[in-house]
Amino acid sequence: MTVAEARSIDWNAIVAELEGIEVIRDAVQVAKLSKDYYTYSPLLQAQLNNKVGEIVVRPANEAEVMRVAALCVKHQIPLTVRGAGTGNYGQCVPMRGGVILDMTKMQAVKWVKPGIACVEAGAKLAAIDKQTRETGWEIRMAPSTYRTASIGGFIGGGSGGIGSITYGLIADRGNLLALRVVTMEENPRVIELRGDDVYKVAHAWGTNGIITELEIPLTAAYPWSELIVTFPDFMTAARFGQTLGDSDGMIKKLITIFAAPIPQYFAALRNVLTPEQHSAFVMIAEPCLESFGELVKEFGGTIVYQKSAQEATKGVVLGEFTWNHTTLHARSIDPSITYLQTIFPADKDLKLVEHMYHHFGDEVMMHLEFIRAKGTVVPAALQLVRYTTPDRLNEIMRYHEEHGAFIANPHTFIIEDGGRKTIDPMQLQFKEQVDPAGLLNPGKMRTWDERIEG
Ligand code: FAD
Repeated sequence: MTVAEARSIDWNAIVAELEGIEVIRDAVQVAKLSKDYYTYSPLLQAQLNNKVGEIVVRPANEAEVMRVAALCVKHQIPLTVRGAGTGNYGQCVPMRGGVILDMTKMQAVKWVKPGIACVEAGAKLAAIDKQTRETGWEIRMAPSTYRTASIGGFIGGGSGGIGSITYGLIADRGNLLALRVVTMEENPRVIELRGDDVYKVAHAWGTNGIITELEIPLTAAYPWSELIVTFPDFMTAARFGQTLGDSDGMIKKLITIFAAPIPQYFAALRNVLTPEQHSAFVMIAEPCLESFGELVKEFGGTIVYQKSAQEATKGVVLGEFTWNHTTLHARSIDPSITYLQTIFPADKDLKLVEHMYHHFGDEVMMHLEFIRAKGTVVPAALQLVRYTTPDRLNEIMRYHEEHGAFIANPHTFIIEDGGRKTIDPMQLQFKEQVDPAGLLNPGKMRTWDERIEG
């Protein structure tokens, strides 16, 4: 259905049928809730700026989600699910108008047991942690948007983040235990997915089911100290990051490395870091701080900032300079900056990182995030790019790929063209079963559109 067709629907009648469920029709609000953070990409800005839904519906429970799904199927209206809308690739932008299903009212933490929690999809990650921490547990990994993002959106569109140095990415078996999903059928069903079946829907961008509830694994909640360490040169900082990642006895949650001049974008840290400094931003379990100090000494680093876990609950949050928050800070000072998403191959000498660092110089500023991938610690990267033209941006990404780095292209709103490369046949098959008319977040899954057209 095109936007124009969606507009020919009698929206007054639709809203009347939704009686009892919160609906937003105010054009300014609807336009706002039609956006996410695709603006970080100059290519996506041009493609997505004018895409808006017709109404926003805010269900309070699963029964209301089912009513909305049934109504959309009856009238063949596109439905795009939205959590907090912090996704980066237009993931929840309604390409063909229709209903935006805002899940943020469904935020209950239903239960917490040792190592596991059951939560509603709209619950914010920080709010979940607050409850689980009361019993000594916390979420294994969270995006740097932890304070605003929803768990449904993280599973639907995210990949990993703070905690991935220990637990890998969401896609790693064991990092998601179960989901409840509402189908997009004439008579919507609730399907419970467990075990490997959860990956039928995880990272499908809301194209093949509406997640209402999740069971997520937890880990021991340590008191996390936040530190910044500076180094005389970038590669020493990078090698420090790799060695810290490989130090199995040291419990850590975050290892971020920034090349100079990235600190120039961190306004709130101006009294701590100068633009010329190369640095590591880390979160270390407090019992490991003494051993951490030894490692810093070994690499000739200087600790320039340190907050205990207690102090870290107030003021600056170090994690909010890392992952894609780095891009946010850079763009707030220079809006022409964009970014890459890269995973470098496993190599303790970091030769490819070093090559790219020298090859691109100031055009691609190095920002590493160490993660655990298939049992090995590797540098992922969200490099800052001084953007010039689409061709040059594509050339930079191609150069990385040709040299063996994996690029999850953040400049596309098509699932297959981002990190996935191909659609998981299991996800396509599941969509055929649960969304036969292709109404869920249409225009994002190329394999589906080609299947319909071809
Ligand atoms: P939304 O943006 O609302 O949705 C994301 C996708 O999931 C959409 O396709 C949507 O349709 C789908 N979806 C949402 N809810 C449901 C549901 N209930 N059922 C089915 N599908 C659903 N991402 C990371 O992985 N790691 C990071 O460290 C990270 N850092 C970021 C930093 C910044 C500054 C920004 C702007 C973004 C960052 N992101 C990161 C991207 C994003 O914040 C996360 O992926 C976040 O978890 C998305 O949650 P959300 O609630 O905002 O989801």
